[in-house]
Parts: sequence; C-alpha cells; structure tokens
Amino acid sequence: MMQQYLDAKNACGDALLLFRMGDFYELFYDDARAAARVLGLTLTSRDKGENPIPMAGFPYHQLESYLAKLIANGHRAAVCEQVEDPKLAKGLVKRELTRVVSPGTLTDDALLDPRESNYLAAVALPVRKNNGDSSAGIAWAELSTGRFFAATVQSARIGDELARISPAECLLTEEDAPASSPLFPVPSRTMVTRRPHWVFGLDTAQATLQKHFQLASLDGFGFTDSDSPALRAAGAVLDYLCETQKASLAHIDRLTPYRGGELLEIDEASRRSLEITRTIRTGDREGSLLAVIDKTVTPMGARLLADWISNPLTSIAAIQLRQSAVSEFAADDKLREELREQLRGVYDLERLLSRVATGRASPRDLSFVCRTLAALPKLKAKITARKSALLSDLETNLDLCPEIHVRLQSALLEDCPLVAKDGGILRGGYSGDLDRLRDLAAGGKEWIARYQAEQAKATGITNLKVAYNKVFGYYIEITNSQKDKTPATYIRKQTTVNAERYITPELKEYEEQVVTADERAKELEYELFLSLRACVEREARRLQATAAVLAQLDVLSALAELARQRSYVCPTIVDQPILKIVDGRHPVLDIRESQGTFVPNDCLLGDEDGLVALITGPNMAGKSTYIRQVALITLLAQIGSHVPAREATIGIADRIFARVGASDELARGQSTFMVEMTETARILNTATARSLVILDEIGRGTSTYDGISLAWAIVEHLHDQLGCRTLFATHYHELTDLAQSLPNVRNLNVAVKEWEDHVVFLHRIVAGAADKSYGIHVARLAGVPKPVNERAKQILARLEEEHLGENGRPKLTLKGKPSRKGDLQLTLFAAPEHPVVDELRQLKLDNLTPLEALQQLARLQSQVAAKS
Ligand code: ADP
Repeated sequence: MMQQYLDAKNACGDALLLFRMGDFYELFYDDARAAARVLGLTLTSRDKGENPIPMAGFPYHQLESYLAKLIANGHRAAVCEQVEDPKLAKGLVKRELTRVVSPGTLTDDALLDPRESNYLAAVALPVRKNNGDSSAGIAWAELSTGRFFAATVQSARIGDELARISPAECLLTEEDAPASSPLFPVPSRTMVTRRPHWVFGLDTAQATLQKHFQLASLDGFGFTDSDSPALRAAGAVLDYLCETQKASLAHIDRLTPYRGGELLEIDEASRRSLEITRTIRTGDREGSLLAVIDKTVTPMGARLLADWISNPLTSIAAIQLRQSAVSEFAADDKLREELREQLRGVYDLERLLSRVATGRASPRDLSFVCRTLAALPKLKAKITARKSALLSDLETNLDLCPEIHVRLQSALLEDCPLVAKDGGILRGGYSGDLDRLRDLAAGGKEWIARYQAEQAKATGITNLKVAYNKVFGYYIEITNSQKDKTPATYIRKQTTVNAERYITPELKEYEEQVVTADERAKELEYELFLSLRACVEREARRLQATAAVLAQLDVLSALAELARQRSYVCPTIVDQPILKIVDGRHPVLDIRESQGTFVPNDCLLGDEDGLVALITGPNMAGKSTYIRQVALITLLAQIGSHVPAREATIGIADRIFARVGASDELARGQSTFMVEMTETARILNTATARSLVILDEIGRGTSTYDGISLAWAIVEHLHDQLGCRTLFATHYHELTDLAQSLPNVRNLNVAVKEWEDHVVFLHRIVAGAADKSYGIHVARLAGVPKPVNERAKQILARLEEEHLGENGRPKLTLKGKPSRKGDLQLTLFAAPEHPVVDELRQLKLDNLTPLEALQQLARLQSQVAAKS
C-alpha cells in the first residue's frame, strides 16, 4: 500500500496528499508534519518498528473543512480516493488521484467566497527580452464559472493587470524572476505556482487550446498574429486545469480576447491607494469602496459588481446604457423592491452549472437549478416593456429554459440530499422501474411489521420483536422470561444478557428481497440522477447566458437601490476633460459617518476653472478625503452608477492615477521615497490630457527643500506638458505661489476655524491658499503632552521670526509675480543676501560728501572681493 501511496505522491508534485484509507484521509511523512501543524492534527506513526513513518489523519466527512484550512494556509492538496468498493476488491483496493485543489482551482462552495471571483492566472513573459520584444501574455480563468480570458500587454503593465484581476493563484515558469520582485508585483493574496517552461511555449499552448476547444485555429475567438503571448499564457492555464482537475472542463467553452483599450486604466498603486476592492491597511473587502456600494442580493451580482468596479468603462454610450437602466430602477421603488425580492430567491446558477460540468453537482445542486428556473417567469415579467434599451435586451436574453425546468421539476423531490448514492432524490411517478423497486423495498418493511404481529400472536409472546442489525440482518428477539414459549422452528443465532435472538427461513427470504430492492432502487436512482445531470450539462450554455442576465439585473437594481438609499444623482457624462461636481461626498465616509455629518464639497476643473487644483490646509483637515472623493466619484460614474453628489458632470477619464501617502509602503520592504518617486515617474510618463491625477503629499518622503522642489517641478510638468485634470494636496504652502505663475493652477484650501486656541476643522473646501499649517494644534488634539506643545510653539515663533517675511510667507518663496518661469525657480532657491547689500541699503547718501561716498564704495568693493 505504501508503494501505491508513493506513486500517487510522485504524481501530485508539491501538493499535500490526502490518502483515503477506509473512513479516514491519512497524510504521511512531511505532509503529515505540515498537516499536523496547520490543521492541529495529532502526529502518530505507522510501522512502529525501526523506521516509523509520520502519519496524521482525519475522518472522511471532514474533508471539505480541512481542505479549506489547507488552502487558506497557502497549501495545495491532492485527494487520492478508493475507486472500488473495498468489500468487492480482490487484494489491495484500487486508488486514484481524483482532484488537486489549489487556491485558483476551487469549485466547492465551502471553499469559495460567494461574493468574489476566484481566478487562476498565468503570465507569459517576452520570449526574446533582448530583442526589444516587450509584449507579455496574461490569461485568467475561473473554474467555478468557466470564464476564460487572455490578453497581450506590455510587460511593464503585468503588475497592473494582476492587480485588476486579483487572481487567487498565478502560474509562472520555473525560470521567471521571484514573484515579489518589482518585475512581478504579484498581489500578496495571490499564491504563485511554478510550472515547467515548456507549457508556456507557443506550439504546446496552441496544441493544448486547439485540442480542448476542438478547433483548427483560434482566430475565430478574435485572436490575431500579435496575440501569441496571450495564447501562451492561456495554454498554460488550460494545461494546469487539465492536469489538476481530472474532470470535464466542458463548461470552459471559449477563450475571450481581452482588449484593455475600452476600459479605464487604473494602475496597481492607484487601485491600492483608492481602496477600490480592498483596504490598504487590512487588505479586507470590508471598508473598501466595493463593500459600501454593494447592495446586490445574489452572489452572481456581487461578483459582477466587483468586476464592473475593477473595470470601469470609457465609452460614453456604454456607460449611458447602464445609467438608463439604473435610473429606471431607481425611479420605480415598487418595481425595484419586487425584482430584488425575486432575485433573493435565485441560487448561484453560475457556480451550480460549473459543478454540473465538472461532474460534482449533487442532487441538491440540481434542485437549486430547478428552483432558480422556477423563479424566472415572474422575474422576466418584471422587466418586460421597460424603456431602457439595456433592460429590454436583458429581457430578450433571459432564456427561461422551460423544458429543463419541466424535466427537473417532474424528477426531483423538494428536499434533495447532498449525496447521490443514497436515494431520496427522485419523485414517485418519474420512473416506473424505480417506483416498482421502491414499492418492494417499502412493502418489505411493512411485511416485517406484519410478520412481527403474526408471530407474536401465534406464539403468545406479546413482547416478541423483529429487529435488525448489521451482523445477522433481521432477527426475532425473545426475552428470557418468555424463552419457554419459543417454537422449535426458530433457529437460534445469539444469546444476549436478557434475551435470545432467532431467525426463520421466511424472515431471511423476505429480508433478501427487501434489502436488495432497496439497494437496486438506490442504484437505479443514481443512474437516473446522472442522466438528469447530463441533460442539464448539455444545456449549460443557455443556462450560463441566463445566469449572466440575472447577475446584470442584480447589479443594476442594486446600484439603483444604493442611489435611492444614499441620495445619489445620475451624472452627465461628457467627452471634454472637465469635472463639475456639486456637493460631492466621499462614498465610503459618507456611509460610515452617520448620515448628514459628512461635509459635501464641490469640484470644478476644466474650461476657465483651471485644470490643476492645489489643496492646502492643515493635516486632518480633509485634503486626502476630498481628492479621493473626486477620483471615486469619477470611477463610479464610469461604471454606470449614480454618484454621491447633488449634481455632477463628468468628463470621461482614460486613466485615473492616485498617489496617496507613502507610509504604508514600509511594510513592503521598499524605501518609501523610492516607491513614491517610481510611481510618480510612471504618472508623469503615462498620463494623457484625458487622465485624472490625484496626488497627496508628494515629496514628503525626503527633506523639505528636496520635497518642495520636486513637488513644484511635478506640478509644472503636469500643467505644461500633460495638461491633465489634477488635484494636488499638500501641506507645503510654498506651492500656492504656483497659481501666480501657471494660468491653469487654482488654489483651494480647507476652511479651519480657530477658537480659543483650538482648531475646528470645517472640512469645507474653499478657494484660496491656506496660510498656516496648524500642525502644533493638531499635535495637541492628538494628545501630545502640553509641555512639548508649549515648547514647539516657542520654537515655531522663533523660526517664523527668522524665516518668514513680512507677509508671513517663508522667505525662500518668491514675492510678487516673476517675469519668466525660469526666473521663478532661480529666485525661489537663490542664495542668501550678501551682507554688502544690507550695508548699501543702510548708507545715508544725503549725509555723505562725494569723497566719503567714493571711500565707502572702495571699501564695499574690497569686501566683496575678499568674500568671493
Ligand atoms: P488630511 O488629508 O487633510 O490630513 P484627511 O482627508 O485624512 O485629512 O481627513 C481627516 C479626517 O477628517 C477623516 O478621517 C475624516 O474623518 C474627516 N473628514 C475629512 N473630510 C471630511 C468631510 N468632508 N466631512 C466630514 N468629515 C471629514
């Protein structure tokens, strides 16, 4: 048996092998040690002789929960089952690897978060890096729904794509750079699995894909010659699925080319800092934009919403299509509520179907498909004759699949079991053969009861009992007190403390019929179940299309619900690079703060309102909140959602860049300032006139003068070279002078009220530059001890005396408007005044004779000569 184990272990690579032995799954050697650690199992040993083998195990019915734990702890696991009945096996029971489970290949409900897509991705790097070939391939598939995409992108964008897809597992070749290197910024939640180099080869990949899809060429899917990197990655994904799943992958029936151009691009750092689907601090969904806007009522809807928010659109027409559907639902409370109520009654059709396709669907799964189909006609009626073009399209595409429904309905009992082999699945009347066998089984049982009554009467033993156990089957039990009345025809089988047990020929004959009838009924029922499942599988494509419609209806009505609950407005989407938001709110804070306490703010950019807004103000005033809110409103607008504002006109953005704070990068082991500058460089190199850029405290990671200089130059570049909409929050008020030299820069600041030595943050954005940093006040609010605060005030006063000019501005900034931009930069950082200048200034010319004046001039000249 250990040989059988070792063969299986060799075949499953680095996965932990769960080896079925009777009623247990056992692990051996290092696997046992790892499992004991992760699962808290007791480590025992097999062959207690000289070379004991470490062993750990758990009962078979706990498989799913232990698998979940292993996966959550970053392991892969392979399951090796007994594939023949141990009772019938001659010699060693045959065993086979039936599945390999890893984070990217989960299909079981118990292991999946219903609200999240669970993608397996593969990255194919350029083959000839030195030839200047920089296109890489990325492919991603979701086994539980059958979705499969591939794209060819610049290799520098791989990190952004991975951040967008956020796969559970990513395949790389054995030779690729370490996953944590800047080359591969694989998200931290993604498990990396190394695969042999050759599965990423173009020929191998094409062969794998063509074989699976049974196609002579992949052109039909829309791939072109330049898409070979995408196909290499797709081949690697499919190869891995075939190897690990040992089940049909028929539901993966197409490979969709993914073209990023139609989508709003958001790079990895911006996604993270905007906390779109996860928060920065905890990495959780809770607290993210997605979590607060998610009002969906089905898991399919929740996943689709996550997909929409990760992939906002750039086509005005496509956005308006969604908008009008959302508006229609928002305008009709009754319609929306009824529709959502009906959607609550549908099951996760997408994932049910994938289990059908991979042969893992239980009878209960099929009954859930049936219940979902039963809910469809009413749902369809709700969206009939709607004004919105999208809704009427969805109505047309909502295939009720009536034949499948009728078939399932007539076959399945109301409450179906999770296991298919124990019967209890099919209704009476569905199959004549099954009914006959069941009658026999049930009649037999009745017969036993009748037999007991007859025997009791015939023998006069009133407490005579016919019972059943596994060893003897049916037997007659007679208590010791009645033993004397036992007829001679009874055959004694067993003596217990209080009673004797007998059998009779009639009893055994009936038992035979009853038992086999029951077993035969279960076998037949299992076969009928399999053919029912095959029938659903044949129609999987139609059902998937229906599932897609349900998901969209859920998302559209959920966005409408959100709009109504939080008083969102439908934004006007335009092509010009402008932003006009009246009374905008931060979608996340707006929901977290109790209603009405969030202070709304306007944002005007574009046309004569300027393109670059510089927001100054003390820490904690609300600068970050404001600039993020503008980015998030834009993002929501581009998924077709209404937005938290009283009025909004949003010019389509092709990219959103957000560079917010640097503090959290420390955890990633990189120099904060280096990261900050790398990301800023990317923005400056890739933003276009149609992008939206929000920058928060850029330059903070270095010394003040460095920081100001960089921030200054960055704003100039954004303004002069890129001309993109920019919100720049900073606590360097020196930068506010930029508004004087650059025509499209506007100063904004956050209103603050000073009251008896306190600062009250009003969180209101107003025009103009802030003139104080209020840092010390904030420190006091934060609980910095009073003496420290007092001392800081003294130091501040002295610094202000020495470094601030008459107008309260730092002396190093320019006063007055410069003639040219170059001058401005020079003056800003000019050397301190020569002392001679001051002496010159002090000279009282009226009191000097010409000779004295000449002498002074000679003296000053020699001073200058001596200094320089
Ligand atoms: P800054 O970037 O200026 O340091 P933040 O944007 O981080 O300040 O805001 C500090 C805190 O102020 C936030 O955590 C939030 O609780 C609160 N806040 C910010 N803006 C608003 C607002 N418009 N209305 C209400 N509270 C706000």
